[in-house]
Amino acid sequence: MDREGVETAVFDATGSAEGEQCPRCGSEATVTWHFAEGFDELECRTCGWLSDEEELAALHRFGGELLEEDETAGSPVNRTGRRITA
Ligand SMILES: [Zn+2]
Repeated sequence: MDREGVETAVFDATGSAEGEQCPRCGSEATVTWHFAEGFDELECRTCGWLSDEEELAALHRFGGELLEEDETAGSPVNRTGRRITA
């Protein structure tokens, strides 16, 4: 168990300096991360801003809505434990 933080390394990303402007401090010393999954993130080398943080916050809000919706959905789950064998 000598590896730390491996749980964050689930995405395959390539970073490149494309001069995108940081929305927080306006610096152009940023790195744009292109993820193999098909989305981009912006990281600011000046103030440390990460577009990922906003997306995570949005995900948390969205997740809360999903949980509420799931409670009211009340879809029955088959827990009889029976298995269908071919
Ligand atoms: Zn910045």
